[in-house]
Amino acid sequence: MDVSKKLVVGNWKMNGSLAGNAAFLEEVTKSAGFGCAMAICVPFPYLAQASHLLSSASEIALGAQNVSEFDEGAYTGEVSARMLSDLGCSYVIVGHSERRTLFREDDGTVGRKARAALGVGLLPIVCVGETLAQRNDGVTLEVVTRQLDAVAAEVDGLAVDRVVLAYEPVWAIGSGLTATTEQVGEVHASIRVWAQRVFGGGVATKILYGGSVKPGNAAELFAVPNVDGGLIGGASLVARDFLAICRAAADY
Ligand code: PEP
Repeated sequence: MDVSKKLVVGNWKMNGSLAGNAAFLEEVTKSAGFGCAMAICVPFPYLAQASHLLSSASEIALGAQNVSEFDEGAYTGEVSARMLSDLGCSYVIVGHSERRTLFREDDGTVGRKARAALGVGLLPIVCVGETLAQRNDGVTLEVVTRQLDAVAAEVDGLAVDRVVLAYEPVWAIGSGLTATTEQVGEVHASIRVWAQRVFGGGVATKILYGGSVKPGNAAELFAVPNVDGGLIGGASLVARDFLAICRAAADY
């Protein structure tokens, strides 16, 4: 991972089709060569297709959206970190708020998934963030720190530059609501201090912002101190929009 460049990661969530993916990836690979690092996290069934289509564009990394906390064995329906690595993934998202809420993943599970990823050389993108109720109660920083501490407890001793952190306020995901630059700046500064304290070299840790990032707001979000890039949901489904966000990230 190049720590000097911003990182823009697309999260397609449960979207895509063989034909649509091929058109998207062709457009993105044609235009790649940006001054930012890029990754696209696709649904499991499309990993092999995307791996093949991205093989000519070495600056665009492949990622998955989830991983099993277990290494192998009798876990029907699970996908292991080793399998993701086999398919050419470099990244995997863990602890996305949709998985925490809809699939009841707790902090410990998220930490174990991050550990499983690191164990095979994948870079986990660990998502943290508060709900609207938690923000209104004034406990945003406590919630985020608790989620981070749970991961640190599992990945203790592993290299700081191999974990990507993503601050994603739950209320801003897919809602069209974006955190203000002040709100983003406050949480990212707090995560940076946490990374320095816990990992002992937090400057190397990439901290992404996610939550309704669009071509129109990407530049101002990427200008906030301690924002090292973005995790992009909805806008990563449209090649033109995703590329515009990558261009905004390349300006720094
Ligand atoms: C996400 O899914 O991680 C996300 C940030 O979604 P959106 O950009 O659509 O808010």
